[in-house]
Amino acid sequence: MRILDQRYLKIAALLGLLALAPLSQAALARPGSLRPERSSFFLALGGCKDHKWVKETKKTWVPPVYTQKLVGYDQNGKPIYEKVLVKEGYYKTTIIHKCAKCGKIK
Ligand SMILES: [Zn+2]
Repeated sequence: MRILDQRYLKIAALLGLLALAPLSQAALARPGSLRPERSSFFLALGGCKDHKWVKETKKTWVPPVYTQKLVGYDQNGKPIYEKVLVKEGYYKTTIIHKCAKCGKIK
């Protein structure tokens, strides 16, 4: 009888989940409750449906490149290295296409 009770509980729990599913779908479909352009829920899923792509420039910092150069030896014969700049850091400008509505970048 106890095993039978547990089975009934599992079936009841499953039916409960099925009963709740349409409610959550109704909440999504309700106009104004979750606006596709505004909701972070939709943005997390990949943005709005009709993207409005706008060209934008983006500046990124390219770090300098250093190398170790042997400059001599100390009294114990241990090599002394110095940090030498190979290439200076610079700002790189790239053109990106960003959606004006959701902020997605392609
Ligand atoms: Zn978009």
